[in-house]
Amino acid sequence: MKKLLQVSNVTKQFGGLRAIGGYNGLSFDVDPGSFTGLIGPNGSGKSTIFNLLSGFLKPNSGSIVFDGNDITTAPPEAISERGLARTFQTPRTFSSLTVIDNVIVGADNPGERLRFSWTGKWRNQEAELKHEAVEIFGRVGLSHRVNDRVGDLSGGELRMLEVARQMIRKPKLILLDEPTAGVDPKLQQNLADLLIAIHRKGTTIIVVEHNLHFLLDLVDNLLVINRGELLAKGSPEEIRSNPEVVSAYLGG
Ligand code: ADP
Ligand code: MG
Repeated sequence: MKKLLQVSNVTKQFGGLRAIGGYNGLSFDVDPGSFTGLIGPNGSGKSTIFNLLSGFLKPNSGSIVFDGNDITTAPPEAISERGLARTFQTPRTFSSLTVIDNVIVGADNPGERLRFSWTGKWRNQEAELKHEAVEIFGRVGLSHRVNDRVGDLSGGELRMLEVARQMIRKPKLILLDEPTAGVDPKLQQNLADLLIAIHRKGTTIIVVEHNLHFLLDLVDNLLVINRGELLAKGSPEEIRSNPEVVSAYLGG
């Protein structure tokens, strides 16, 4: 099968520290339509990998191919345009705008915002986007919040907003960095349901998550990272029964 994402021998150095890639570089690939969990201890390089994939950092060596295009040195806007979306560990939003306006306006990407705002397509798209945004918020149990200012949302609601804002762009691949952090259990369940629904519709997902209870029921495969290197990969069953992984990350 043609891979949606191919990461080959990637290394990333911060000053004297090689955060990603060890000696040989980091390599892994992602099938279209898959749902992958990315796990590993704090500081093992998970967010850095997302930054490399989404163009916010450039690798020192190696290559990243997304949907048949070499994106190794592409800027974040170009990668996002190709259909690779990501959320941040700390949500980035316009706190003075309403929830609905945050969903339909790109907040972390000024270029995208301008393009949406000044092309003739925008007016036609706006009503449709609003309709979809309301539907997504309904799915995550936040319908009552759509006209509230983002500054009034709880941390958990902000995370849901961050996910919804990316979903509405119908990405081919979405990278979610710790989406359940600070989210109460009820919203977590709504979020899980939303992720299952968008995965069923064909969106490929990679999620970084400390909450393994949340993760293992969702994903069809796992990548285990340690010190920027791939320690193991496989199905949740394979990872659960991998003694090295169990002793290091799953608490015995
Ligand atoms: P994780 O998300 O798995 O907790 P990170 O990717 O945030 O880990 O960090 C991996 C390592 O890279 C850590 O040692 C971190 O301190 C370092 N690091 C991450 N981003 C930067 C940066 N922009 N500059 C310098 N060091 C960084
Ligand atoms: Mg992180």
